[in-house]
Amino acid sequence: MFSGKTEELIRRLNRAKIARQRVEIFKPALDTRYHAEDVVSHNQNSIRSTPVPVAQEMLLLAAGCDVVGVDEAQFFDESLVDVCVQLANRGTRVIVAGLDMDYMGQPFGPMPALMAVAEFVTKVHAICVCCGELASYSFRVTAAESKILLGETDAYEARCRYCFQEGMREKAAETTSQAELK
Ligand SMILES: [Zn+2]
Repeated sequence: MFSGKTEELIRRLNRAKIARQRVEIFKPALDTRYHAEDVVSHNQNSIRSTPVPVAQEMLLLAAGCDVVGVDEAQFFDESLVDVCVQLANRGTRVIVAGLDMDYMGQPFGPMPALMAVAEFVTKVHAICVCCGELASYSFRVTAAESKILLGETDAYEARCRYCFQEGMREKAAETTSQAELK
């Protein structure tokens, strides 16, 4: 979430552009936090992108591209895996950025399968807001249950494994005490 994965995606795509390669960037149409047409990272270093409602649309839209970038890939369904494989099989370089785990610490959407079929996997880390260690987990500060809760600093905290577990234990204890009051 705060790990710089979108910045890393933009960095790689910009280098491809410098090499005069044809680049297209896609993201799920539901992610409209800032601008519908831009992949916008937290540091405002943005790059134009095309929102698509389903992964299959990329196959047509990416015709003639050398490099295809996908941002917020965790919000696509499993069909993204097959689409990326098809693109790669026809010679397109595919760079996918996404969260590997959801707020419950579980593998997120198509990400585990994408990591399995990719030649290269880079895990970028945030810093745990509690202790300063490397953070791999997104701890949800709010109580909402939906897996797709878009938003920034208010809803999630980057946490390390230990502090994520601590937070989940505290949440479970809160739920129990609330239940006892009813
Ligand atoms: Zn920590």
